[in-house]
Amino acid sequence: MDTKYIFITGGVASSLGKGIISASLGKLLQARGYRITIQKFDPYINIDPGTLNPYEHGECYVTADGQETDLDLGHYERFTGIETTRDNSVTTGRIYLSVIERERRGDYLGKTIQVVPHITDEIKRRILLNATKQPLDFVITEIGGTIGDIESQPFLEAIRQLRWELGPQRALNVHLTYVPYLAAAGELKTKPTQTSVKQLQGLGIQPEVLVLRTEHSLSDELRRKVAHFCNVDVEAVIQSQDLPSIYEVPVNMQRQGLDAICLRKMGISNAPRPELGPWLHFLELRHSAQSVIDIALVGKYDLQDAYKSILESLAHAGTYNNRKVRTHFINSEHLSADNADQRLADMAGIVICPGFGQRGIEGKIVAAEYGRTHDIPTLGICLGMQTMVIEFARNVLGLQDANSTEMDPQTHDNVIDLMKEQKSVTQMGGTMRLGAYDCELVRGSRTWQAYGEETLIKERHRHRYEFNNRYLREFEQGGMQCVGINPSADLVEIVELPAHRWYIGTQFHPEYSSTVLHPHPLFMSFVRACME
Ligand code: GLN
Repeated sequence: MDTKYIFITGGVASSLGKGIISASLGKLLQARGYRITIQKFDPYINIDPGTLNPYEHGECYVTADGQETDLDLGHYERFTGIETTRDNSVTTGRIYLSVIERERRGDYLGKTIQVVPHITDEIKRRILLNATKQPLDFVITEIGGTIGDIESQPFLEAIRQLRWELGPQRALNVHLTYVPYLAAAGELKTKPTQTSVKQLQGLGIQPEVLVLRTEHSLSDELRRKVAHFCNVDVEAVIQSQDLPSIYEVPVNMQRQGLDAICLRKMGISNAPRPELGPWLHFLELRHSAQSVIDIALVGKYDLQDAYKSILESLAHAGTYNNRKVRTHFINSEHLSADNADQRLADMAGIVICPGFGQRGIEGKIVAAEYGRTHDIPTLGICLGMQTMVIEFARNVLGLQDANSTEMDPQTHDNVIDLMKEQKSVTQMGGTMRLGAYDCELVRGSRTWQAYGEETLIKERHRHRYEFNNRYLREFEQGGMQCVGINPSADLVEIVELPAHRWYIGTQFHPEYSSTVLHPHPLFMSFVRACME
């Protein structure tokens, strides 16, 4: 079958969960045996979100092939288990960059470069690109932003054109809107949805399916009203009510026939039934898990989305260990030796989060020390691992001034230092050590056991600094072992304290590859240790 394209747009407000709806639809189509991919088009001018502040945009997710992307790609991977690539994440900046590079090369000699057709053509090329590299039945394209934004206009124009070019059997629009509840009137209001659809229609786009985000159940009458005003079939007006977790959404969407309607509208009448067994099993486990474990998340960004993948990885591992993980965000800027006991003593485990820059670093070092000296299972990720190393150097090896040159370029004991290949880097964007690299595990180590006695693993990275091998002997003699190494560059990827119950730091980000059906082995092992 020819590849079919589903475009997901959003109206009325941002943060309605377009990413989750896209991931859910992808999951449901995949569960029917279709080959799918999901991509995100973001209207901002940055080339990628790598240089964005997590406060503004949440976590920066990294694909195996080393693209820094929007956190929605994390949802796509966690839901479908399918690895995304740099082709799955496109911004206005990347679109313009390639058009401008072509213009400079002289590819358009004599022509005036314009938004239509040059920018829209490049958007269309990128929408179609994935299916030119692999056989795909469905490509789901989520358009970031909200209808009415100036920035998203070229994307909407591109999907309008594509829908016309490909025809209704090969292209479909799904629009997500919001139905607010006015408590004073005791009523759900559909006007914003009507207005949003009218705006889309004004741009030449008729959505075939509407997903209405709501905090209260919609009556049949209200759905009929929306259908009537928006030129949409009643059965294609679907509600997305708040649910206890995002993982309920695919099942809720299936119950209302989101996938079935999309298939029917695209002319598929004999689709295989979805096989959701393993997903339902995960949900069952999740519901039945009663006992709670408390895990401290030590970081400086007091925003849920900044550590999205870590939170989800802990939830996956908790579920498969029959536990509800309750995470306690502890702002590292306010953590000190004086209050560590009060904040950390009741925790079953500690995660020291990734990050950049000096702010909040001393609090992370306090957490590393507390976990080590109180024998609390502790997982340090990226900067978290680096702070474990700094703490160990200062408090066990007696290198009082030890630091990362990121925090103190003048430190005498640069136990964490800029990687060789980073020293000449002057451009900030997209120049870190990014994406998946091999890591060889030391047999017999706790990490090796956690990975099911695998000796060669591959994990994703996003950093500039690394463990300084000049200190390796001293650390190993002092009791901190390097148990994972990148074989081609000799970089330390994992440290652990064998004398401790569970104290592991990874230079890579295991959280990027935990999925609903395949919880990450390191998080599994960490949660098990926290349960003891
Ligand atoms: N700032 C550190 C580095 O660049 C760690 C990065 C991270 O935690 N992702 O090496």
